[in-house]
Amino acid sequence: MFNIHVASVYGFCKGVESSVRTAEKMIEEAGGRPIYSIGRLVHNNRVVDDFSSRGLRVISSPDEVEPGLALIRAHGITRELKKEFEDKGFTLVDGTCRIVAANHRSCAAAVNPVLFFGIKGHAETLSTISNCNTRCYVIETGSDFDLVEPSEYYDVVIQTTFSSVKIEEFKAIIKERGMKVRYHNSICAASMRRRISVDELCRICDTIIVVGEGQSANATELYNIVVSHGVKGYLVPGAEYLKEEMYSGKDIGVCAGASVYPKDVKDLVAALEERGGMIVQDR
Ligand code: SF4
Repeated sequence: MFNIHVASVYGFCKGVESSVRTAEKMIEEAGGRPIYSIGRLVHNNRVVDDFSSRGLRVISSPDEVEPGLALIRAHGITRELKKEFEDKGFTLVDGTCRIVAANHRSCAAAVNPVLFFGIKGHAETLSTISNCNTRCYVIETGSDFDLVEPSEYYDVVIQTTFSSVKIEEFKAIIKERGMKVRYHNSICAASMRRRISVDELCRICDTIIVVGEGQSANATELYNIVVSHGVKGYLVPGAEYLKEEMYSGKDIGVCAGASVYPKDVKDLVAALEERGGMIVQDR
């Protein structure tokens, strides 16, 4: 027998929730007409497959299909791609998370070179930095600072789900190099709340199962937090990936990334109960 501790916060964040609701409304109102999502709705195959089966087709370029109704997902899209879709005659529904959109505006308003703390090539990174009108450097590791050309001041914008540890590391580098910067934001509150709930679990669990996929920045960050605490961690998309080693400990924690259906978390918890686990109310 083992204890199951469920994170105090899990499931869709407001940005994903809003994108998903918008997609559902589009499906309802489409009446069978083709509707599209520009890029994958969220970084979660289950959610994307579910919406595909209901008629929301993922496209990446306006040349793939005849113009129609297309959703901009929570991560946003680049300024250039948006224009391409508009020029081809698509009607765009903007599902960009309002917090991501605020970062777009910060980049657009920056008058100094922008240091963007984020994951290179990530959809949110690409959409956000496309709004810069000044030089922009994506800083993913400390060595990226070596490529930054000298300037009197810099504007710093941070990816909403970026690693808290790396942010502190980069702030220390900035201080050490005497760079003058203005910070525009920090990690979004939804990401922060999920991280705090995982920190809490780490204090009481020997194993933590993170429900989510490796392509999701926030689920990966939750997993990284778990292992950084020296706790045994697993990142799995759902209950069917459970293996005995994942619940061989005494106190098993369960948490989830922000693009995971709450039902997938509940199913995994139910599967753990079937295997002898007992839910413990920690609060
Ligand atoms: S994690 Fe934060 S910024 Fe990203 S979609 Fe969710 S609420 Fe928006």
